[in-house]
Amino acid sequence: LKYESVALVVGVTGIVGNSLAEILPRTDTPGSPWKVYGIARRPRPQWDANHPVEYIQCDISNPEETESRLSHLKDVTHLFYVTWASRPTEAENCEINSQMFRNLLNCIIPNAPKLQHICLQTGKKHYLGSFDSYGGVAHDPPYSEDLPRLNAPNFYYNLEDILFEEVEKKKGLTWSVHRPGTIFGFSPNSMMNIICTLCVYASICKHEGVAMRFPGTKEAWSSYSEASDADLIAEQEIWAVVDPYAKNEAFNCSNGDVFKWKHFWKVLAEKFEVECGEFEGGERLTLVELMKDKGSVWDEIVKENNLVPAKLEDIGLWWFVDYILGLEYPLDTMNKSKEHGFLGFRNSKTSFITWINKLKDSKVVP
Ligand code: NAD
Repeated sequence: LKYESVALVVGVTGIVGNSLAEILPRTDTPGSPWKVYGIARRPRPQWDANHPVEYIQCDISNPEETESRLSHLKDVTHLFYVTWASRPTEAENCEINSQMFRNLLNCIIPNAPKLQHICLQTGKKHYLGSFDSYGGVAHDPPYSEDLPRLNAPNFYYNLEDILFEEVEKKKGLTWSVHRPGTIFGFSPNSMMNIICTLCVYASICKHEGVAMRFPGTKEAWSSYSEASDADLIAEQEIWAVVDPYAKNEAFNCSNGDVFKWKHFWKVLAEKFEVECGEFEGGERLTLVELMKDKGSVWDEIVKENNLVPAKLEDIGLWWFVDYILGLEYPLDTMNKSKEHGFLGFRNSKTSFITWINKLKDSKVVP
């Protein structure tokens, strides 16, 4: 088979990487037929094994390993960068994430002469500020892509600058930047998966026979929120690497509707047949606090239900959900994306339920 396009997905077991690995190989995907290389840090997980992807385990924070494991990828035409590393401070995030991106580009660009496009995924913290600067520097929503950068360290800005510097050097090489908000998706290996974490929380409540209390603020409970479906982001990224109208631009990526957590809380409770709690007022409840001693409870749930083995600390990302459910969620606008020709959208409730079902069907949660 002669391939039209050759994708390199960096972070293939991540929340969007997993969607790219499912969508790219389909025969009706724009740019097809696609050959797909996928890179991730750890050995290939069992739930990824059926994707028609050439899997390469490689830690791109290590330049020698990157060079030795990736320099033979000479046929790559399109690069999807859907990874990141998390450190305690944003200054450290800037350093490690810049290093990883540079290591990767320093290896791929000189070795892959047919490379046409680099797609970089960042996110809404471009406008909201890093985890570090929470609330202090944010723009006034709704966010549009032309807002100026915030005056605070943000690894997304470093990644963009490295991208701009590299494409400048090679004639014909194009780029796109994608800025999703909270992602609804599948990967149990993701560092930020709100649906998987909420499912784990719901199953622990069910197992213990207690109501599923809402561990967030009044603002998160009753104001409008928005989400970004992982398949929708993958579709937008594939559109951007293929469509000439999408070149050299940054795009927001959200579902195109709004929802309230107080409504989705009921949906989640029904899915796990657990008593639905609600916003309680008083001192802020957090999942970090509520779930701190539940490791052995989760081990029991895994055993009883014959689930894919996972430790609670790897799958219950409490800090992240505490952050999201602490916000009056800032909305963005999809106008620019639509004006450039990407009309994709998702029904967030359908998206929420679909990913819960997939996590259940894959035996990640009961
Ligand atoms: P993720 O955490 O879901 O997946 C990370 C992937 O990268 C995994 O496949 C992992 O194996 C791989 N990886 C990690 N370190 C690596 C290394 N050193 N070498 C090789 N591979 C490595 O990723 P994500 O959430 O899709 O994050 C991508 C971008 O999207 C980040 O900038 C993130 O801030 C942004 N974002 C994420 C969310 C979300 O809800 N998850 C929301 C908005 C923006």
